[in-house]
Amino acid sequence: MVNNLKNIPSVDELLTEQSLQEQLSHYNRDFVVDVLREAVEAMRTRLKAVDTEVTRAHIIKWVCQDVEQRVQVLTRGTLKRVINGTGVILHTNLGRAPLSQTALNYLHQMGSFYNNLELDLEKGERGSRYVHVEELLCRLTGAEAALVVNNNAAAVLLGLNTLANNQEVIVSRGQLVEIGGAFRIPEVMKLSGARLIEVGTTNKTYLRDYAEAISEDTGLLFAAHTSNYKIEGFTAEVALSDLVKLGQETNLPVMQDLGSGILFKPSSCGLDEEPTVQQSVAAGADVITFSGDKLLGGPQSGIIVGRKPYIEAMKKNQLTRALRVDKLTIAALEATLIEYLAGFPEKNLPIIRMLNMSPAELQLQAEQLEDILTAELGTLAFLDSIRVVEVDDMVGGGAYPTYRLPGYGVEIRFKERKLEAVAACLRRQDPAVLTRKQEDGLLISVRTLLDGEATLLTQKIFQVLQDLEADDQKGEQH
Ligand SMILES: *Cc1c(COP(=O)(O)O)cnc(C)c1O
Repeated sequence: MVNNLKNIPSVDELLTEQSLQEQLSHYNRDFVVDVLREAVEAMRTRLKAVDTEVTRAHIIKWVCQDVEQRVQVLTRGTLKRVINGTGVILHTNLGRAPLSQTALNYLHQMGSFYNNLELDLEKGERGSRYVHVEELLCRLTGAEAALVVNNNAAAVLLGLNTLANNQEVIVSRGQLVEIGGAFRIPEVMKLSGARLIEVGTTNKTYLRDYAEAISEDTGLLFAAHTSNYKIEGFTAEVALSDLVKLGQETNLPVMQDLGSGILFKPSSCGLDEEPTVQQSVAAGADVITFSGDKLLGGPQSGIIVGRKPYIEAMKKNQLTRALRVDKLTIAALEATLIEYLAGFPEKNLPIIRMLNMSPAELQLQAEQLEDILTAELGTLAFLDSIRVVEVDDMVGGGAYPTYRLPGYGVEIRFKERKLEAVAACLRRQDPAVLTRKQEDGLLISVRTLLDGEATLLTQKIFQVLQDLEADDQKGEQH
């Protein structure tokens, strides 16, 4: 049995190596030393499994290379750009809405310099961070007042806690939703201190069900927009305006969790049944909550609009301090909302643009992508075919799972069963590439590709296929 372990130099000796000196000149010393110790430990494990002599010079070379690699991975961070070829517009796993160019410029400004986040520049006094997007939200939705918190889950929690702590909240059984990422209305209700009173049945709830459940302990009537599922067939739901009427008669506020919160529906997208925020405000709901990063197309945030006394009470709630948004969120949201005032959200907000794309436009883009792919990949050995296909795209973000947006994509087929390998290698690229896998091919939907990504995507696919081909040839030679 050879003992190679004795050939491992000490950490101090290793640190004098040129390559490690280089690392030390770029990175924090403690960090480099930690990584070196890990590399040495990994080396020990490797050497224990080897029963031939390994020279000291070899060990030094391996350890140094390993340190370089580990440092490279660690200093790159784990958050990576992803090219979204899935055709799912709002992919919660992919960070939901990409921001508009104006939002990014504004973010950059507000992040680079000081700003008046909590300063009233007119009076020279302390101001409130909550004034910044309030007027915009009121103008756009028609509401009296508005407040922004960390996300819609926080908005629902804050609304329930402010309006119905220690009181009963009446909800239809058909609306006790769970959203991906474990947001469940009953759980949030419990956390808020409100008591859930379920009325009606899963498929049918009538106004009288709410009316009969009202008692002196009732604090709130609650409606959730069930954007992520549809109950079809023998069903009845109470219209928001009828619930509002009941609320007015019984002196109870009505709160609606709208989920996605659309401000603007492109006429062509077909989401006709989806209520806009403006419609909910017009129907008279006292408090409405929705996400900033779903179909609004902004940064992660929870937007609350409604009647002034309720919004003011929420601003004073201690919970708000724990749920508050930072300057970057406010900056990105403000710029996003201004795009709606400017009047061309379907041009300037990536999410709305994707929603608005016509099948003809998508077909043209798919044909262009097909051309680029064919020109670049045509000569590779195990490529079988590249062709334009019709696809069903999705809104995503847990919203409208049954709703299909007719789109186009490019399907790439391979001669051997390389599909899994190609998809996995594409995910490991930087930017990573996410495609839709089909039975027999790799499918790239063009709707969710952003400017310039068709070319980048083609380069990445070429790289991956070339590497796999090289691996194959190596395999044959051995
Ligand atoms: C998405 C959604 C939520 C959660 O919103 P986040 O912004 O992700 O916290 C809550 N309720 C409904 C109905 C939703 O669709």
